[in-house]
Amino acid sequence: MVTVEQPHQNGSGANGSTKEEKDESKAVVLASTQTSPLRAPALLTPSSPEILNFPKSLQRKLVTNEDRLADTAKMYRQIIENVGEDPTRQGVLKTPERAAKAMMFFTKGYEDNLSELLNGAVFDEDHDEMVIVKDIEMFSLCEHHLVPFLGKVHIGYLPNKKVLGLSKLARIVEMFSRRLQVQERLTKQIATAMVQAVQPTGVAVVIEASHMCMIMRGVQKINATTTTSCMLGVFRDDPKTREEFLNLIKK
Ligand SMILES: [Zn+2]
Repeated sequence: MVTVEQPHQNGSGANGSTKEEKDESKAVVLASTQTSPLRAPALLTPSSPEILNFPKSLQRKLVTNEDRLADTAKMYRQIIENVGEDPTRQGVLKTPERAAKAMMFFTKGYEDNLSELLNGAVFDEDHDEMVIVKDIEMFSLCEHHLVPFLGKVHIGYLPNKKVLGLSKLARIVEMFSRRLQVQERLTKQIATAMVQAVQPTGVAVVIEASHMCMIMRGVQKINATTTTSCMLGVFRDDPKTREEFLNLIKK
């Protein structure tokens, strides 16, 4: 599901969201003690691992860091010239190298892979109540315009004999968001990775984000936020479980 919300310019939405962002710099972990009314017997099994595979990530490892940086810097120099700036002016002289390094950082997720990331962090545990990590900060690059989109990710899952180390949920977000992305795919990849990691009875992922390509160009809607969600297993099949999750991430 994708919804784009555009609060009124004069409404309380703008002020409210700015304040919220300041207060929520750290991820909040919630473990629900409420008994979920219904458990689907079927477990989620990794069904579409291809969504997690990126052939291009292999290419990135083939060239050395220096070659890649120098090559990218050369192209940034050209961009600087093309926009009408003098690339030899003192202020921008070293910008190509800096921009190249920044771009490599923004896309460092291509260097990660899921099995390495999960290594040693999946634990056998009898816990079968909902686990939620909310307000995970997310920074990504829109693959259509190469400008940032950023926001918050909320992940919930119902474990089935296996739990994932809590910090790894944020690492999964990092791995997939630090790539060229669209929010819809990012949402699905995080959910799919959770299934891959612990085969839970259900996974829910909600992302709320602002897209600079909407804010700085095109429609220029400063307060627009885009919400995407991916519900799998019990979260998809049982409205009460889904509702419990949605209520808990609102608090
Ligand atoms: Zn865009």
